[in-house]
Amino acid sequence: MNIHNLMEEVVTHRINSLYNQVKEVNASWLTCDCENCRADAISYILNRVAPRYVVSGRGVTHAHEILENPQIKADIDALGLEAIRIISSTKRPFHSSSRAECVVEVPENPVFNFPIIQGCILEGNTFEPLADATVKLSLDGKEVPMADVTWANPINTYNSTKGTYSFWPKALQVEKPDQTRKFNFSIEVTHPGYDPVNYSFDTNLVSENKIRKELDTTLTLKIMDLVMFREDIKNTMDRMIKE
Ligand SMILES: [Zn+2]
Repeated sequence: MNIHNLMEEVVTHRINSLYNQVKEVNASWLTCDCENCRADAISYILNRVAPRYVVSGRGVTHAHEILENPQIKADIDALGLEAIRIISSTKRPFHSSSRAECVVEVPENPVFNFPIIQGCILEGNTFEPLADATVKLSLDGKEVPMADVTWANPINTYNSTKGTYSFWPKALQVEKPDQTRKFNFSIEVTHPGYDPVNYSFDTNLVSENKIRKELDTTLTLKIMDLVMFREDIKNTMDRMIKE
């Protein structure tokens, strides 16, 4: 069985086209468009959009169809420009123009490796995915740093990604492996016109010998769907309950 995520070719195609457009207008903020930077920009988007899996070989027409949906194309382009700007303004420690020299230096210290934290924001009236919500992940009241620049905290939700968001917190250095610790995370969701939502959860982790560099989607922590209500609807409901 050969499973393939169609979004990879869709996003690669759009990112290359966006880089070309940005270069054509000589945008002063563009510092580099090498293969490393392009790969970072592609990962940035793929970490934020819902995957579309197909069996290999059947994908060619489907990939094309995805971009015919103007909403999906607009969302990918918006994320793409955001990705290009952020990557262009961030010097990665391993950045080099040669792909072969692209090596990530990681200290071999014991760490707590965090799972990918994933959830979905829904609209309280329709139970449809809610776009343009801002989701922030905190640990003990502090904004959590992400594993690398291709992840964001806070992050926004999009229509085409079905209101989903995901975080990959940066590994936390610790004295020794095999230590158990309970982490108290909280998620804060805001959206103009909606009542903010707060949700807290705990996770127990055991420290490991070294940082996990590869993304392992089997280690995903799914958060319950969070529902947002319009301020006016909630006020009306409160009044109805009281009367
Ligand atoms: Zn570059």
